[in-house]
Amino acid sequence: MKIGVLALQGDFDAHRKRLEELGAEVVLVKKPEQLDEIDGLVIPGGESGTFLKLLGEDGFAKLKAFVQSKPTFGTCAGAILLAKEVENPAQNGLGALDIGIRRNAYGRQIDSSIREGKFGDAPIEMVFIRAPKIERVGKDVEVIATEGSDPVAVRQGRTMAATFHPELSDDTRIHRAFLDLIK
Ligand code: GLN
Repeated sequence: MKIGVLALQGDFDAHRKRLEELGAEVVLVKKPEQLDEIDGLVIPGGESGTFLKLLGEDGFAKLKAFVQSKPTFGTCAGAILLAKEVENPAQNGLGALDIGIRRNAYGRQIDSSIREGKFGDAPIEMVFIRAPKIERVGKDVEVIATEGSDPVAVRQGRTMAATFHPELSDDTRIHRAFLDLIK
């Protein structure tokens, strides 16, 4: 199983380490054609607007085709990229998840925080960094993790997203759930 981690920008290396720890073969994806060699993709956190700039129109089109056919997991900025609707400000989304998401939704005061949420019914640590908020969840979207009453991780078909950074906690459950989705 070859997993790609989009390595244009952001914290891709922490995802690489985690996936390797779990036994996956990891490819750092820097060129669109590398998408042809992988069975699944992680889009890391970073700045979603910068990702769009670096991808360019062709990269965006190629990535859009990929996420429609292969398992993809987006964290934070990656979740923003995968969404159908993005606001604050509005920007293009890949539309793989039927969700509405609001960028930088927690404001400056609580820019970043570590909170406890629930993954299924089990408690789990969640690291939020300038996190977006999922404001609308489509009917085919399953909420797989919550923080308070907010959905913070979702799945629709072969696409998964989290508004927090599981790659920055020691817990491996979220990445394992993604690898299970690929199998
Ligand atoms: N605030 C970033 C954005 O809007 C996401 C932050 C992150 O990925 N940690 O794209």
